[in-house]
Amino acid sequence: MMNQYMENTNRALIHTYNRFPVVFDRGEGVCLYDTEGKKYLDFAAGIAVCGLGYGNPELTKAIKEQVDKLLHTSNLYYNTTCGNAAEALLKACEMDRIFFTNSGTEAIEGALKAARKYAWKKGTGRYEFIAMENSFHGRSMGALSVTEHEAYRAPFEPLIPGVKFAKFNDLESVRAQVTDKTCAIILEPIQGEGGINMADPEFMEGIRRLCDEEGILMICDEIQCGMGRTGKMFAWQYYGVKPDIMAMAKAIGSGVPVGAFAMTEGVAEYSLEPGDHGSTYGGNPLVCAAVEKTLEIFEKKKLTDHVVKIGSYLAEKLEELAEENEVVLERRGTGLIQGIRLSKPAGEVTAKALEEGLVIISARSDVIRLVPPLLIEKEQVDELLEKLKKVL
Ligand SMILES: *Cc1c(COP(=O)(O)O)cnc(C)c1O
Repeated sequence: MMNQYMENTNRALIHTYNRFPVVFDRGEGVCLYDTEGKKYLDFAAGIAVCGLGYGNPELTKAIKEQVDKLLHTSNLYYNTTCGNAAEALLKACEMDRIFFTNSGTEAIEGALKAARKYAWKKGTGRYEFIAMENSFHGRSMGALSVTEHEAYRAPFEPLIPGVKFAKFNDLESVRAQVTDKTCAIILEPIQGEGGINMADPEFMEGIRRLCDEEGILMICDEIQCGMGRTGKMFAWQYYGVKPDIMAMAKAIGSGVPVGAFAMTEGVAEYSLEPGDHGSTYGGNPLVCAAVEKTLEIFEKKKLTDHVVKIGSYLAEKLEELAEENEVVLERRGTGLIQGIRLSKPAGEVTAKALEEGLVIISARSDVIRLVPPLLIEKEQVDELLEKLKKVL
């Protein structure tokens, strides 16, 4: 049933989304409530954003206090939260220098620019990027240029030149794209939008080796798979394969719009300098208060340990489901970034699930993606399975 909120949204906004017919009004814990008061179990977390679920009192308090004090100053001045948030994030991702953006897409843009600047300053003449098939890095012209999805790209071509695509988990196919002009290789350690495809450990190690041998930078897009989902703070740590530059966003601010790209000192030394890059909002007092508190809560609650435990329970239950139910062809992923590949369109299932009070999202046409708040417990996994069985 259409209500006033759906009607004015449909009337006013450019139609870039096919929205589900639900208006969410508030959230509590790991559940959402619509304007009719109906309760939903949430296994989407606003697309892997709300790692701490909804209404965390400590986070809410920190954000409210910052709202009362100061929202914004611009990057022409120092503020009281930016440096703290940066240090906390750098500690979590084991990098040395960071730049705050307002989204994941912008984090990718910055990462690509940082790699190009590095090559420029070193005078190597390198400018090409190698990206992966099935990748998703965002929708701006730069991020879209390294995103391999024909439908997303076609209307906007020509995109940025010098991008080549290789097969994910096929090192030889990557090697075949390397030239003396290759500047960086960019990949998601676990492809999210592409269907929850995990990199093989040998593939990650192989990319690192290839980059070292050829003088190429390795860029990891940790925007979806990072921030605790694998049971490590960032997915590269799960593999033990450290990139030179990484992009993050989504869960780092628990719902306030913030992203970042970070790099090692070795890259930073030759990369962006004053005047090379900027953002009016980037790293403003409000978002950085949220980032700082988010990381504090992650540490205090030992959330990554929880993800390891609850993630293996979820995997076990999904494996059982795949054995019992012929519609479920395969389970994918790890921790709290998992998926099931179906023999029927995932879109049908996500729509039906919503009627049953379950929020799930698809990835490509045949995968159900499960990226819940990291705080879910066994009883919620059981409830998910119960609802999934009914819907499938
Ligand atoms: C969501 C996402 C992006 C884009 O982030 P936005 O905040 O939507 O701009 C880029 N890369 C990956 C892997 C993502 O999941």
